[in-house]
Amino acid sequence: MEHRHLLPDEIDQLLDGEAGFGVAPLLAHVENCPKCRAELADARQVVNALERMPHFAPSPLFRDRVMTQVQVFEPWHVSALDTAKRWLPASRPARFIGVAATSVFALVVSLSAVWMAVRLDAFLFFFDLAGQRARTALFDSLGGAIATTFGSAAVDTLRTGGVAAIAGVTSFLVIVVLAAVGLRALVATARRRRAT
Ligand SMILES: [Zn+2]
Repeated sequence: MEHRHLLPDEIDQLLDGEAGFGVAPLLAHVENCPKCRAELADARQVVNALERMPHFAPSPLFRDRVMTQVQVFEPWHVSALDTAKRWLPASRPARFIGVAATSVFALVVSLSAVWMAVRLDAFLFFFDLAGQRARTALFDSLGGAIATTFGSAAVDTLRTGGVAAIAGVTSFLVIVVLAAVGLRALVATARRRRAT
């Protein structure tokens, strides 16, 4: 007879009915040790009671009810990537045409930008008068706000910077706003589609 009582996992082995190299000494100990025999009997009673318990299953709509209240977080880059993948045509020829059309569009935009940069002087000459008036009106209404936000030096820079500075700042702001709105719409669309 061993001098050590059974460990919990050894009792588990006996309850599971495992047969093996290590089980015989455990059984021999249980034969001779009233304490371990009682412990094993208790554990067996618990196992039997658990096995007689009815098996519960959630109602069929339980998952849906829970998931309607769960906010699934999706990083914006995953949403954007999903949307881009959905926009990508499935068939190879359509995909090729899509890439070609995108490339042509990018080329046209790039060439336009280069042309505008090269012809900027002529471009500005025609719009200088309109620019002067717009600038005066702009600073009459916005000068105070810009001065408060960026300091009066910014106002002076813009005032003396000419049409190029005005156009640059305005274009930049418009692009930033458009990019923010576009990205937001993309992400919202992807989330809506994923949720349905
Ligand atoms: Zn024992």
